[in-house]
Amino acid sequence: MAKQISPFHSADSKVYHIYGSCSSGKGVKKRKKGTSGRKLCKACKDIKAGKRTR
Ligand SMILES: [Zn+2]
Repeated sequence: MAKQISPFHSADSKVYHIYGSCSSGKGVKKRKKGTSGRKLCKACKDIKAGKRTR
């Protein structure tokens, strides 16, 4: 089971991430804390659902 972390997002993205292992979230260079009203990243959603690991 992937470990959830504090939500973070990229200033130039419309989504936020909750997994450090998220392949999409890993590409975020300047992480900003919180969700900022964004939607949960699809990869993170799949990780949460157990469909994928990263
Ligand atoms: Zn993500």
